[in-house]
Amino acid sequence: MNTQQPLENMLKDIRKKALKRIDKKPPSVLAASWSGDDLLYSGPGRAIFIVLPTPGCAWALAGSGGCSMCSYIADSPLQKVSSKELLEIFKEQFQRQVEKQEINGPTAIKIFVSGSFLNPEEIPEEAQKEIFKIINEYDDVEEVVVESRPEYVTEEVLRDCCTLIPGKIFEVAMGLESADDKIRLNRINKGFTQKDFEKAMKIINDLKSDFNVRAKVYLLVKPVLTSEGEAIEDAVKSTQYAEEIGVDRVSFCPSTIHKGTLMEILWRRGSYQPPWIWSTLEIIRRVRSSVKIPAIMDTAGFGTRRGPYNCKKCNSKLKDAIIKSNINQTIPEEFECECKVKWEADVEFSDMTRSTTNLLKNH
Ligand SMILES: [Zn+2]
Repeated sequence: MNTQQPLENMLKDIRKKALKRIDKKPPSVLAASWSGDDLLYSGPGRAIFIVLPTPGCAWALAGSGGCSMCSYIADSPLQKVSSKELLEIFKEQFQRQVEKQEINGPTAIKIFVSGSFLNPEEIPEEAQKEIFKIINEYDDVEEVVVESRPEYVTEEVLRDCCTLIPGKIFEVAMGLESADDKIRLNRINKGFTQKDFEKAMKIINDLKSDFNVRAKVYLLVKPVLTSEGEAIEDAVKSTQYAEEIGVDRVSFCPSTIHKGTLMEILWRRGSYQPPWIWSTLEIIRRVRSSVKIPAIMDTAGFGTRRGPYNCKKCNSKLKDAIIKSNINQTIPEEFECECKVKWEADVEFSDMTRSTTNLLKNH
């Protein structure tokens, strides 16, 4: 069954409505920063996360409707933010973490822009450069991580960034979501192909002999219209593909239901559920025994109503085991709980025929 056409139309509608409902906030209110334990390339360390407000993800605003699971655009000021203002905001957030003495030992700085840091329309080049110059003054900072869609990865911009932070690792994190073109294009509406991604990867790989540049990918665990079993298979296969193509580490994002997305609409109709925490554990177990690159499972939404869920008895136990496994990269132990048989049945018997039919019938 070809679901591409109705999905595309739905996504456009949904995004249009969601954009209308956003009540605009000034850029400085939308900025944030925090810190936490993290796995660096050199081993366990700290990470400082900084969220910068930008005009908004170019893809979400492009009229395509953007990605079926993502509502980060709702946290964007949706207006031009000048280099000067962006820089002031960055300095304020960064300084806050410095004052809390968060840069003390091996540290990674992760800059989130709810879009593409390397797109000069979202972050002007001048701001990109000044931010890197500030970070470069801190010797304990070993890594700088930015997010970008692959189309903004060019040799020139990578050279510029790397040159400003000599001796530090510069990592570009791309939302590949799935190695499967059909899943990425038709179910996620990501708007780039495996070929586009491989072009960006070639640029990164070619520069590795001159610079400390690395690539990370985000993989979405259980896109819409994907069964529990298929979600596990796709996550494992996508990680194996990422390793083959030269990606240096993988970060799994198990679906949580964002407001104003196609995913939310399907969820409300009973046609979608976020993955079981069991599935994320299974993915971690299989990935740890089949690939060598570090893989992190994001556990942020675990055990919440809109996030990955097992049962009240085992949610936090499994979450803790996965967090531990993220830091030491070992295979988590086996767990048992009475809810496990339901998960096993879902993996074995659930298919997407019902939700696909519902979707087409109701639209
Ligand atoms: Zn349970």
